[in-house]
Amino acid sequence: MRAHPAGPRHGDVFTPGAVPRMPAGVNALEPGIWPTSSHRASGGSLVVGGCDVRRLAADYSTPLFVIDEVDFRGRAADFRDSYARGPAPATVYYAAKAFLATTIARWVEQEGLGLDVATGGELAVALAADFPPDRIIMHGNNKSLEEIETALRSGVGTLVIDSVPEIDMVSAVALRLGVTARVLVRVTVGVEAHTHEFIATAHEDQKFGLSLATGEARDAVARVRSAPALHFAGLHSHIGSQIFDASGFEIATSRIADLAAKIASDGASIEELNLGGGMGIAYTSLDDPLGVPDMAAALERIVVKSCERAGVDIPRLSFEPGRAIVGPAGITLYQVGIVKPVELDNGLVRTYVSVDGGMSDNIRTALYDADYTVVLASRESSAPPQLCRVVGKHCESGDVVVRDAWLPSDLAPGDLLAVAATGAYCRSMASQYNYVPRPAVVSVREGATTTILRRETQADLLALDPGAPS
Ligand SMILES: *Cc1c(COP(=O)(O)O)cnc(C)c1O
Repeated sequence: MRAHPAGPRHGDVFTPGAVPRMPAGVNALEPGIWPTSSHRASGGSLVVGGCDVRRLAADYSTPLFVIDEVDFRGRAADFRDSYARGPAPATVYYAAKAFLATTIARWVEQEGLGLDVATGGELAVALAADFPPDRIIMHGNNKSLEEIETALRSGVGTLVIDSVPEIDMVSAVALRLGVTARVLVRVTVGVEAHTHEFIATAHEDQKFGLSLATGEARDAVARVRSAPALHFAGLHSHIGSQIFDASGFEIATSRIADLAAKIASDGASIEELNLGGGMGIAYTSLDDPLGVPDMAAALERIVVKSCERAGVDIPRLSFEPGRAIVGPAGITLYQVGIVKPVELDNGLVRTYVSVDGGMSDNIRTALYDADYTVVLASRESSAPPQLCRVVGKHCESGDVVVRDAWLPSDLAPGDLLAVAATGAYCRSMASQYNYVPRPAVVSVREGATTTILRRETQADLLALDPGAPS
């Protein structure tokens, strides 16, 4: 396990001598964080996918999610190719929950990936995009009978069994429909991984999956195998998110291989092993995730080694990255409103920069204490940098987009800010808190734009209220 690079912690950044990292220049676009096509135009504004952000803001208003199509497709193709090499070629499913719309489902389909859905809603979007159902895997710790039925009727390729009662539910629905459901059994292996740290325990205290430690997973496999309308295809494990190296996967895989050996002694083989998603990305220059080919090669070695040690055949592998495909491809554009210097107890000043969105379009800062990279996007500036906190417009002091950021001291209302790596878990987790309509999502490519999701309107929100005049 590598140590996390030493960096400033929140809270000490305004103490002289302990200032946070200072970018090479406030105008610089740090490599590996922005969509691959990003650059500054000669006039200084940010250009993504050949589109000037000032034009995008004028045409679509702000806040606005912008997704670089070439970047998204490139990352999807990188996963497809990197994970297809070696003795255990893998299927890659894009995890829809990171962000899904019909356009995204079509890109995923065209790049040859499968799709991981977790609810009837995500499944409906996939089906609306004519995504081949046999390439869909369906998750969920509390699938309704209706969701199971829709999945089986529409020909979803694989269902992931998450609990003992669900075995009977899926079996009963499959019997009634006269189909055989192909299922994986989700195992909790007692490893929880996050960036450079993982915690390995015997038992796992969370809602997903069937316990390996108590024997519940092995029993569940036996029960699946004796159910008339189920085909036991293998095992599933998802250990966490924003994982930077393979060490957590190594323990998980080793434990799963031991389980596979026990299942083999019960007379069943593991045709497919799905190791989930969670591959990390760089939100700031402090983040250093393994590249896609390196992570793929490391996981491959781990699987081969674990299976050989446990004396089981190497199964077909599958993975479910979400964030690592769509996260870096997306940015958010905001317009600056009020800029308010606030004097702190230590006499220093923190400049609060309010933008026209906030926790309703990016809950990750409030929810996970996530960090982001932000730049002045509508122009360059030669003004000296000042320490800022980029905040939203919601009635909540925790409504922070970027906790500590260097921005030029001539920042003014009307300027555009761009926040990097917001493609995943921002629009998909968006709310209409304070009746703020959710932003549009547009894709950019070679100077052209496509609306992926239109902006919600106040009329959309009022339409839910039968008491409002229509
Ligand atoms: C969330 C999730 C994923 C995707 O996680 P990322 O961090 O976006 O790669 C994949 N599989 C399962 C089961 C998940 O819950």
